[in-house]
Amino acid sequence: RADVLARPGVPHVVRFRISTADRGWRHLEEVATNLLDDPTVGGVVVNTRDITERRRHEHELLAQARRDPLTGLPNRRLFHELLDSALERAREAHTDVGVVFIDLDRFKLVNDSLGHHVGDALLVEAAARLRDSVRSGDVVARLGGDEFVVMCEGLDAVDELAARVLAAFRLPFRIGAGEVYTTASVGVALARPDADRTELLRDADAAMYAAKARGRNRSAVFDGGLVEAARERLAIESGLRRALEHRELELHWQPIVADGRAPVGVEALLRWHHPERGLLAPESFLDVAEDTGLIIGIGGWAVREACERWAAITRAGEVPPLDLHVNLSVRQLVAPGTAELVAQVLRDTGLDPARLRFEITESALLAGHDAHVELGLIRALGVRLSLDDFGTGYSSLTRLRELDIDMIKIDRSFVAGVDDDPDDVAIVAAIVELARVMRLDVVAEGVETPRQAEALLALGCHRTQGFLHAPPLPLDAVRSWIAGRSGSVEPVPH
Ligand code: C2E
Ligand code: CA
Ligand code: CA
Repeated sequence: RADVLARPGVPHVVRFRISTADRGWRHLEEVATNLLDDPTVGGVVVNTRDITERRRHEHELLAQARRDPLTGLPNRRLFHELLDSALERAREAHTDVGVVFIDLDRFKLVNDSLGHHVGDALLVEAAARLRDSVRSGDVVARLGGDEFVVMCEGLDAVDELAARVLAAFRLPFRIGAGEVYTTASVGVALARPDADRTELLRDADAAMYAAKARGRNRSAVFDGGLVEAARERLAIESGLRRALEHRELELHWQPIVADGRAPVGVEALLRWHHPERGLLAPESFLDVAEDTGLIIGIGGWAVREACERWAAITRAGEVPPLDLHVNLSVRQLVAPGTAELVAQVLRDTGLDPARLRFEITESALLAGHDAHVELGLIRALGVRLSLDDFGTGYSSLTRLRELDIDMIKIDRSFVAGVDDDPDDVAIVAAIVELARVMRLDVVAEGVETPRQAEALLALGCHRTQGFLHAPPLPLDAVRSWIAGRSGSVEPVPH
């Protein structure tokens, strides 16, 4: 009251509630204005309104602002609030809090290749499965994109929780008329005494990345070394963003030979001259490049560089015309424009399209419509396709036909034991037979010993590639290597 009197003309708002006969509450708002000095009023004006309905509406809006509209799960904001209060309880009552981070492994691929409506449907179904796989007190939230998180109090259950989350993704997702598979990578972190929310979430995120790095579709529990690993990833990512413009990328070239001797092709393989770490092979940066989409620019650069360099030395007669193999990753196929780039590069370099082969993995065959369209456009340019790492995926043979693939590369995991492990012998024999029936060329990669080369030859696989012949070499070195093996420069028939 004193406030109202002290400030003439200024409305003063008070909100309060009164209990009702039916044991509920009504909310009221009172606005008092001192108009004593106003000659037409000459008093204090008090307006009282029932704002019960308005308040309810405001609360609903507030609740919506804390929910993810797609899945109905708590969003990042609400999750942070809930986690903060759980951590406070933990400090007071010495209980435990655990956080389980979940990232879908193939989501970007699904979204890019099958469309956003399929991506959305997948997220809704994933949310439902997560909700079903936690205990009633646990909180499931969506942090954004394909990232989910579960918070649980009382930790005996956290390992089991991670296992249930992984299991929830085992069955295919039925979306519309089709089925989509996705797995999840799961990171677990337990609150340390006095940990705050930021630390705990960072730990869980680092553990999730470790799970991805160990091959996806698994869980990892945070430990101190992971902070280091997460920092490492970030360093790779920021370095990689600049690698192209700083001209730090280079190609090495590995020969492919027929019958143990004659060169029939080369495979271009990426290398990164890291300013501090020296020469890096793709295993130390390819994952980051794929996850961040940087592979689209980098892989595109590799296609152009490979064709330009190879066309130049072929044109100069420094090497006989051989097949040029270039790797393409799925991300490059689902980003439109790869076929266009290839067409442009062929025009610019004059390279014979029939001499260019793209190596794709079986994941490209499973990637859906857009990738298939892109591959079709590439094939239409007269370029050929080879299936890399054959035997490690799940591709059906009809897909090989649909995509007009005419070569398979036997994965080196089978080549390793082809001279003594009966299982590997049986698998390689089956692949060679399959290739014969389907009239596909077949190459074995990762051949390291003469015995492996002999065993492959005996099984009918004539083309081989591996350290036995030559490792990936800089361009000058591969040129001399090929010259040393070719005698006269005669074109190799394809
Ligand atoms: P990949 O296509 O399966 O390439 C074969 C890998 O095996 C190469 O590793 C090669 O150095 C290695 N290798 C060759 N011979 C032997 C052998 O006798 N024994 C053993 N143990 N290994 C052998 P690298 O160069 O580290 O490449 C790794 C992967 O990176 C490649 O696997 C390919 O999937 C990817 N990659 C390389 N260059 C490119 C590129 O330009 N674009 C894209 N998208 N991916 C690329
Ligand atoms: Ca390859
Ligand atoms: Ca391979």
